[in-house]
This record gives sequence, C-alpha cells and structure tokens, in this order.
Amino acid sequence: MSQYGMIIDLEKCVGCHACAIACRAEWEVPTGKDSAERERRRNWVTRLGPTKTPKGLASTYYPGLCNHCDKPACVDVCPADKVEVTFTDAKSGKTKKMEVAATWKDPFNGTVQIDKERCLGCGACADACPYSARYVNEEESDPKADKCTFCVERVAEGLEPACVQTCLARARIFGDLNDPNSEVAKYVKKGAAKLESAKVKIGPNVRYYGNKKDMHLLTTTCTPQAMPQANLRRTIMAHMLKPAMDQVKGLGMLGLAGAVIVKGLSDDEKE
Ligand code: SF4
Ligand code: SF4
Repeated sequence: MSQYGMIIDLEKCVGCHACAIACRAEWEVPTGKDSAERERRRNWVTRLGPTKTPKGLASTYYPGLCNHCDKPACVDVCPADKVEVTFTDAKSGKTKKMEVAATWKDPFNGTVQIDKERCLGCGACADACPYSARYVNEEESDPKADKCTFCVERVAEGLEPACVQTCLARARIFGDLNDPNSEVAKYVKKGAAKLESAKVKIGPNVRYYGNKKDMHLLTTTCTPQAMPQANLRRTIMAHMLKPAMDQVKGLGMLGLAGAVIVKGLSDDEKE
C-alpha cells in the first residue's frame, strides 16, 4: 500500500502564499467571513516569529493542510450511514471493499477523503481534527465538510497537487512515503518531523524539515497538545440531523431542506 504524504521544507519556503492561493482557485475555497476563517481553510500559510528560541532568533512559516493521518480522528465520528465502497489500487489494479461513512481513509493510497453527496454537513469531523484542517463550507446553499484531498484527481492524471505545482521555491514535495526511493521518504530519513505530541499521536503524513531554530519555533507553537473535546451540541445535532435528512431524501427535497436544517444549526452555533 502507498501512503501519500507531503514534505514542507522550511528552508525553501518564502511565505509567498502561492500554494494557498492555488488551492483556493483549484477548489473554489470560500474566502471566509473573518480573519480567523481566512486563516484556516483547505490550505494555509501562517507567519511565525521573529522570536527568540534556545537555538537562536527564529522566523519561519507554517504551511498547513490536512495530514491524511494514519489514525484520522475525523473519520470515526462521522454519523452518516455506512455504505459499501469498492476501492481500487491505481498501481496494481487490486480492489478492496469497505463499509464507509461519508469520510474515510483510502486503503491503497492512504489519503482521507469525503463523499460530498453523502456528507450531512454536521461538522463533527471538523470538531474532531486536532489540526483544524477541516471546515464546513457554509457559503454553499447545502453546506458540506471540506479539506485538502491531496488533489487525488490531479494525481490520478499524473499531475502534482495544485499547491506543489505552484510552489516555485519547491518547498512542498509530494509523494509516497512508503516508497524508499521517493523524495519524501528521503526527507524523512534526513529527519523531517511530524507535528505530534504525547496526547496527539494520530500519525500525520505531512512532515516538516528545517534548521533547528525554525523547527523549534514551529513545533513549539503549532503542535496540538490535546485532542479536541467532542462538541456535545454538535454531536446531538448531528444525530438529530441524520433522520431528518433521511426523511427529506425520501421526499426528494434533500438539497432544499438540508440547507434549511444546516443553516438552523449554524445559526444556533453562533448564538
Ligand atoms: S489532519 Fe485532521 S482532517 Fe486530516 S486526517 Fe488528520 S484528523 Fe482528519
Ligand atoms: S460533516 Fe458530518 S456527515 Fe459530513 S463528513 Fe463530517 S462528520 Fe461526516
């Protein structure tokens, strides 16, 4: 099995945001209502420092995205009905059947994906991610969860993810971490690090590489230190939402009523 992953080389990143802009253009990511929403969507670049560290004065960037984790906290919380899906290995042509909800980890390429058709837009997955790498796109009439997909459609056509192709500094490198000859695997051998802590060990597959002071700044400020607490209200609403959506689906009015229900949920959250 492959495990697609990404290396972010902080030595090369110049903080130009071209990657995040390319992602927004490729996937029509909404701009967000406020600076907090603009900051974290599918793909982001956050400036860190300048700050004194024990290793010296550090100044760097945190380019972030979904980590396509080995044990994705976002997957198990999805309340959507499970359906059987047949996955195909692009390399060998082998197939595997799995029961999955509206979000899952692909057994062949290791990416974590969302079925927007079946997503209820409840946001339980977004709440569960310790990296804040998911959001619910409430600018759509029928809000759905969204996040980085590693541009699997582009990769299937032999292209790089949009952010990787756009980065002129070649600070983002994409590939199969399980292939010892890949550039990403070579970076791991050189010491590219995961943003993991004692309480957050879910196997992120985005790794960071840089000098000691910048890595110190990145890891001390951007590593999640605790798994998010389940948002009880959201969980209850998700379980209320599902039967309502099933009923509406039966009436063939999914889009319209879904939008009304989700809007009600989101308005409720804002109170
Ligand atoms: S980074 Fe978050 S959204 Fe992505 S797989 Fe891990 S837990 Fe899920
Ligand atoms: S928003 Fe809800 S239904 Fe959609 S993928 Fe996330 S947890 Fe599943």
